[in-house]
Amino acid sequence: MRILDLSLNGFRNYEAFQCAFDPGVNLIVGENAQGKTNLLEAICYLSRGAAFRTRKESELIRFGADFADLEARVASYDREQSLRAVLFAGRRPRQLWLSGVKKKSREELNGILNTVLFCPEDLLVLKKGAADRRKLLNDALCQLRPRYAKALEEYNRYYAQKAAVLRDRIERPSLTELLPEYNEKMAQNGAILIQTRARYLALLADQARVHHGAFSGGRESLSLRYDTVSTVTDPTAPLRELYDRLREHQESHARAELESMQCLSGPHKDDFEVLLNDLSVKTYGSQGQTRTAAISLKLAERDLFEQDTGQLPVLLLDDVLSELDPGRQDFVINQIRRGQVLITCCESDRVTDIGQTIRIRNGRVMN
Ligand code: ATP
Ligand code: MG
Repeated sequence: MRILDLSLNGFRNYEAFQCAFDPGVNLIVGENAQGKTNLLEAICYLSRGAAFRTRKESELIRFGADFADLEARVASYDREQSLRAVLFAGRRPRQLWLSGVKKKSREELNGILNTVLFCPEDLLVLKKGAADRRKLLNDALCQLRPRYAKALEEYNRYYAQKAAVLRDRIERPSLTELLPEYNEKMAQNGAILIQTRARYLALLADQARVHHGAFSGGRESLSLRYDTVSTVTDPTAPLRELYDRLREHQESHARAELESMQCLSGPHKDDFEVLLNDLSVKTYGSQGQTRTAAISLKLAERDLFEQDTGQLPVLLLDDVLSELDPGRQDFVINQIRRGQVLITCCESDRVTDIGQTIRIRNGRVMN
């Protein structure tokens, strides 16, 4: 899967822009505020039908312009297709087009251009709270496994209802009658979540280990540890067994839940830990190690996406170089040899040996 070329009219700081992309690495170089991230944002928009930095589509339209027109030619499943989005200032709804045919919903563009985006906020995901890592896992699995997405949606719904019942149980004690049903549904769906997460993390670790090993010149060995509900000893066990373990945990925490008026049992607190040479990155990882491990996980996510769909997503790396040492920078610029990669950076002396360098100034290509 790759982007052949992109043209933008009236998108962010791009008035009229046209650029062809290399099938390998595309290094997008420019000073601050010249439009590098805007370029990745345009590609993401065509890939997902939604912006990644804002929910307000009007912000995407160039100041003073009436509309923004984004169009990319992409090679996808051995076919050439074009993706186009037109956004209007004012109330007129946006238009989405696939190879000249107008489409009603963004779902109809799904899968034509898959992208994996990595931005500066993601660099420290391994140091942050568990919620950020769960989001990473949920985002990847919801795209890949419809059964997981459905289980997650149901689990979250019953979790919210149970949490409300527990919170209000003094004022509305009769509602606690609903708890057995909620517990049953949470255990059923929770078993699916745990088993899918555990299997995915095992595959992710295998791929990420290879990338991280190359990244660190073979000095660091990466592994992952999945952390879920304490009664679950084998998270890859059959669903029936996971269900039984979750019920067991619910029963042993039923009293504590009523007393604390909080939902204490279930995989909504799940986390995973990344280890380098058996030391926790969260606790001991240096800045560079933490960032490298996070990029390795993203590369692994892309590999697994390919294993499932047969198509390697385009990798978009925004501003990830500056925090890495020269060896690790070289890895990002010159060693990711599979598939198409777009990397933005500010250092004007950067070049890639295995693709093209695109220089951007004030919304224009300088080459
Ligand atoms: P950095 O290296 O700092 O990350 P960048 O090259 O990634 O910089 P972008 O975020 O792509 O920069 O572009 C930012 C510029 O785009 C800002 O100067 C901003 O004012 C301008 N910009 C954003 N939205 C619009 C818009 N709707 N119309 C015109 N200009 C815009
Ligand atoms: Mg930027």
